[in-house]
Amino acid sequence: MKRSALAVLRETFGHAGFRGAQEEIIGHVASGGDALVLMPTGGGKSLCYQVPSLLREGTGIVVSPLIALMQDQVAALKLVGVRAAFLNSSQDADTARTVERALLAGHLDLLYVAAERLTLPRCLDLLAKSKIALFAIDEAHCVSQWGHDFRPEYLQLSVLQERFADVPRIALTATADPQTRTEIATRLGLDGARLFVSSFDRPNIRYTIVDKADPRAQLLRFIREDHMGEAGIVYCLSRRKVDETAAWLAGQGVNALAYHAGLETQTRTEHQARFQSEDGIVMVATIAFGMGIDKPDVRFVAHLDLPKSMEGYYQETGRSGRDGLPADAWMAYGLADLVLQRRLIEQSEGSEAFKRVSGAKLDALLGLCETAGCRRVRLLGYFGEDSRPCGNCDTCLAPPGTWDATDAARKALSAIYRTGQRFGAVHLIDVLRGKSGERVTRWDHDKLGVFGIGADIDEANWRSVFRQLVALGFTQVDHEAHGALKLTAASRNVLKGEQSVEMRKVVARAKSASAGRASVSAALSGDALPLFDRLKAWRAGEARSQGVPAYVILHDSTLAEIARTKPRTLDALGMIGGIGASKLAKYGEALVGLAGAELSESP
Ligand code: ADP
Ligand code: ZN
Repeated sequence: MKRSALAVLRETFGHAGFRGAQEEIIGHVASGGDALVLMPTGGGKSLCYQVPSLLREGTGIVVSPLIALMQDQVAALKLVGVRAAFLNSSQDADTARTVERALLAGHLDLLYVAAERLTLPRCLDLLAKSKIALFAIDEAHCVSQWGHDFRPEYLQLSVLQERFADVPRIALTATADPQTRTEIATRLGLDGARLFVSSFDRPNIRYTIVDKADPRAQLLRFIREDHMGEAGIVYCLSRRKVDETAAWLAGQGVNALAYHAGLETQTRTEHQARFQSEDGIVMVATIAFGMGIDKPDVRFVAHLDLPKSMEGYYQETGRSGRDGLPADAWMAYGLADLVLQRRLIEQSEGSEAFKRVSGAKLDALLGLCETAGCRRVRLLGYFGEDSRPCGNCDTCLAPPGTWDATDAARKALSAIYRTGQRFGAVHLIDVLRGKSGERVTRWDHDKLGVFGIGADIDEANWRSVFRQLVALGFTQVDHEAHGALKLTAASRNVLKGEQSVEMRKVVARAKSASAGRASVSAALSGDALPLFDRLKAWRAGEARSQGVPAYVILHDSTLAEIARTKPRTLDALGMIGGIGASKLAKYGEALVGLAGAELSESP
């Protein structure tokens, strides 16, 4: 007898109910319809093809660009009792043949295949001889030649429609822009497919953007205070900075590893594997570390450098908190970041049109950094979604407010002018604040009328003034002259007092922002915490002996729920999210035992 979608969700995957559009998508695909699914990272795309594959006759074929990921996904599926396998170049011929035989015999529910493999004539012939439930094309934006994840082999996937006209196809991506959406539909022949667009909001992620003063120390404080012992990603722009930051963090007692394209393949693979399977590793990485990360319990993503667009920022921060538990997206941002990104655009090989588009994308991100309003409203607005202030970002938690910076802007521009347009912001701030040092006296800048006229404004706010003046085009950076600031045509209006300038205040690090800590363990009250730690230790042992990542055994959210409710019976345990029939049978005794021991110990 056929099971219902909800029964599969509950019995096999152990989830209580569907999220968002999952149910509708699953219903549509299970009854044979094509679908194009846009859902943010962590939204729950996998179930949209996994459940229909189990409901329909035959095997669901999943096309994925990432060989490394297939293995974990298949391991996770097998643990819940789904008959899953993969075919890719990492296997030897014997293993591959065994998988092929299982497919032909109808013994597989799901088969993951690398795109370049799938489009080989031999593989297509194999599929033609098998009973196929559906095709799922994951990371479908890889078909877009404009995107940064372009994979030429994805272009060949249009063959699926030609050869398997009766088999439903579902394409999935977390890339939101309309251009990519159209490209996917056209290139994969999905023009007739039903489109499902989910909200891109990730309510469990708390966005924080801080004024960059001493980035390493700021990062360390952020990790120590809110995320010690938890998994996170720290993004840097250059390989060198990745290496240096990882080494420095390690020296400070943080379990940090480095990842970038310049490392030897073996080291890189090993670091990635450790990040995936061990608890609490902080990966310091360039954006080369990205799409392949399917770790649900990444508790924070920190940016030490500014990404180049809202899309980049959203995708990178989206790698945190996929399990739906509280997570942090934290970024330190300063004038140098803005200058560097502008220069990269100017000096790129791209056409004028490309530079214009890149400049506009960067400006949108700067708008997010400088806003005094809700960060989430800005982010979602950029992706075409209206929303209300979220209450879970730094500006909502500690509203910075704005101030009339017209006078300060004038003083700043005067300082630039009086010092001959040959100095950067650091020196100019010293002059304005009346701080005489070697450099100031050498140039006789302490004798200028502007010396000390801005002593009433602190350094952080001056940095912010200069940053915003650059962002708004009232001054520009001379890349030839070591980042000296120069006046622009627009400066005049400000200097003459004809244009008023409103700016965001820099607030001293607000205590309240870290008060409602975003950490999972912090959400557990006193006596649940030791049990949570014991459950994690038990899970680590299981993961090691089975050779799978810890989260494949059970998610943090499930362990936290057990720690909180301390189920005494298998029935009670079975009610907890993440515990399906198969996991209940496998781990039930052990878990109830751990929870029970805790009970008898506590007074
Ligand atoms: P995506 O591929 O969209 O990034 P995943 O499919 O990996 O997201 O799902 C993200 C996380 O959410 C996973 O840990 C998954 O187990 C969980 N999840 C998905 N759907 C549900 C649901 N209906 N109920 C509970 N958890 C869910
Ligand atoms: Zn907000």
